[in-house]
Amino acid sequence: MSSDPNCIFCKIIEGKIPSKKVYEDDELFGFHDIAPWAPVHFMLVPKRHIASMSQLTPEDAALMGKIMILAPKLALENGCRPYPEGGFRVVINTGAEGGQEVQHLHVHVMGGPRPWLRG
Ligand code: AMP
Ligand code: ZN
Repeated sequence: MSSDPNCIFCKIIEGKIPSKKVYEDDELFGFHDIAPWAPVHFMLVPKRHIASMSQLTPEDAALMGKIMILAPKLALENGCRPYPEGGFRVVINTGAEGGQEVQHLHVHVMGGPRPWLRG
């Protein structure tokens, strides 16, 4: 399934729920977290509905690689200071015990001056 009608992030990707977009291409979407932990906090998600990191297959290697390459670029564009004084954190919560609340794979990117609300 490429889109799940009951999934909040699929609805955001389709524009049915508003979001503050930071990035979009044919296979990825990026938007600010509605409840940020840090001064900069956005998420990168595949447009295709993938429930979590546990569902990834070898065919998704390029997709996930693209997210890893985009994260530092978008972090800087959205207010993170450069490495090494600045930087950012990348988090992928997976499953109940991993703290995952939304069942559509998402990569958190957090940064900006400390202290942060969490982390
Ligand atoms: P996780 O706990 O890793 O599943 O993270 C889900 C994240 O989605 C949380 O940090 C929420 O604040 C965020 N979130 C939930 N609903 C929305 C929304 N409508 N727009 C932006 N972020 C959201
Ligand atoms: Zn989804």
